[in-house]
Amino acid sequence: MPSEPISPNVDIFIIGAGPAGTAAAISLCEILPGARICIADTGKNTVFRIGESVPPPIRPFLDRLGVTDTFEKAGHSPSFRTLSAWGTAELDSNEFLLHVYQTGWRLDRTGFDNMLKAEAIRRGAVIVSARVQSLDGNPYEWRIDCGNTGKFSARYVIDASGHAAIISRWLKYRPRKLDRLVACAVFFNRQARQTESADADAAVIEACESGWWYAAAIPGDRKVAMLMTDVDIARRLSVVGMPAWRHHLSLTRHIKQRIDTKFALTQPMVFPAASRYFTDTYPPGIVPVGDAISRFDPLSSQGIVKALRSSLYASYAIADHYLKGDTAGFSKYFALMRNEFENYALTWRNYYRQEQRWPEAPFWQRRHRTESA
Ligand SMILES: Cc1cc2nc3c(=O)[nH]c(=O)nc-3n(C[C@H](O)[C@H](O)[C@H](O)COP(=O)(O)OP(=O)(O)OC[C@H]3O[C@@H](n4cnc5c(N)ncnc54)[C@H](O)[C@@H]3O)c2cc1C
Repeated sequence: MPSEPISPNVDIFIIGAGPAGTAAAISLCEILPGARICIADTGKNTVFRIGESVPPPIRPFLDRLGVTDTFEKAGHSPSFRTLSAWGTAELDSNEFLLHVYQTGWRLDRTGFDNMLKAEAIRRGAVIVSARVQSLDGNPYEWRIDCGNTGKFSARYVIDASGHAAIISRWLKYRPRKLDRLVACAVFFNRQARQTESADADAAVIEACESGWWYAAAIPGDRKVAMLMTDVDIARRLSVVGMPAWRHHLSLTRHIKQRIDTKFALTQPMVFPAASRYFTDTYPPGIVPVGDAISRFDPLSSQGIVKALRSSLYASYAIADHYLKGDTAGFSKYFALMRNEFENYALTWRNYYRQEQRWPEAPFWQRRHRTESA
């Protein structure tokens, strides 16, 4: 990751260079020219990066970040619909044509994250390759320990560490959780496509007794297929091993037609995917964004758009305080995030209630009756 010498005293320190961290940096560089902004990221580049379907409403955020042209030339695959067998065995189509912005995308996820990093650097942010190990200090005088890379001080710290949510973890905050969902994902070579239909590469969702399946072609001549289920059910079914994963795939009607398991590139990889939200109050100058404040079910395909949105709002709140000493922006930011999650939770519950074919199955019973996991 490119880096340059940086003063240990910065205005804004961002933990994590995923979409949330880099979007915050890009926006802050624009609205606070001259502010010193540093992003630290562990710099781990995983070959198989999960989370690639973005719906049409990503467009205004790309425009706002000034990356639309670069994005459109980057070789991501346009997508025009999602197919799903949900509440019925037949596939139904959700056409993006009916959206204001008509094209969704399946991202080359590593390329997308790198594009945002490059833009953040171009605008003046500095990215250091480091694992943030601890945080202490006082409001607007925070000290950040990056181990061998050194210690930094900053007025504002943005936690964009994704699933790790490290500041919340250090503060011992407990999120409100809706479920205990995990993904058991396998990546394939593109030849894994079995069907030759026009929609062979489309993103397909298929509900099953123990959860739901997702399969899609992704840039780089690959496919991904995953079973989404609860962590205890995944253990009981042994779907973290290939034989049981393959067996459960064979029980599907639509997904199995799109995947030929002999082209598997990986074993099942497990990713936490529970819906959750941190409800606590953060110390002044500490702002969590993206998955570090709330995480949505991959069924929604909203994770990346939500990450960009939260980071833009957080950057406005920080700018208000930086320029005018006004803290109202922080209150508005946290109120917006809370409302967003409450609205999401209602939609999430209603969506899972549409599937009633397995009333005795624990996965579905939990979603039909409980308030929280
Ligand atoms: C199975 C699955 C499928 C998904 N599918 C989709 C999808 O189709 N569409 C969609 O929009 N979203 C999807 N998502 C969600 C999406 O991937 C996330 O919402 C999105 O990546 C959040 O961005 P972020 O920047 O908040 O976090 P991340 O992208 O996770 O970035 C966090 C960064 O912080 C770094 N970091 C963590 N700890 C430290 C530390 N201590 N020090 C320094 N750096 C640190 C990490 O290395 C990482 O680079 C899916 C998620 C899962 C689990």
